[in-house]
Amino acid sequence: MPQQRPKVINCASCGKPLKKLKRYYRDDKYWCDKTCWRKSKKTE
Ligand SMILES: [Zn+2]
Repeated sequence: MPQQRPKVINCASCGKPLKKLKRYYRDDKYWCDKTCWRKSKKTE
């Protein structure tokens, strides 16, 4: 039986669940903010 889950988007860097208003979209992923996005850029 399929379960309906609310779609939770997690930060692609730190994994925190993001709220609609606060998420930061970049490079096809969602992040907390610029800081998390830049962090992941550094590790690449
Ligand atoms: Zn984050």
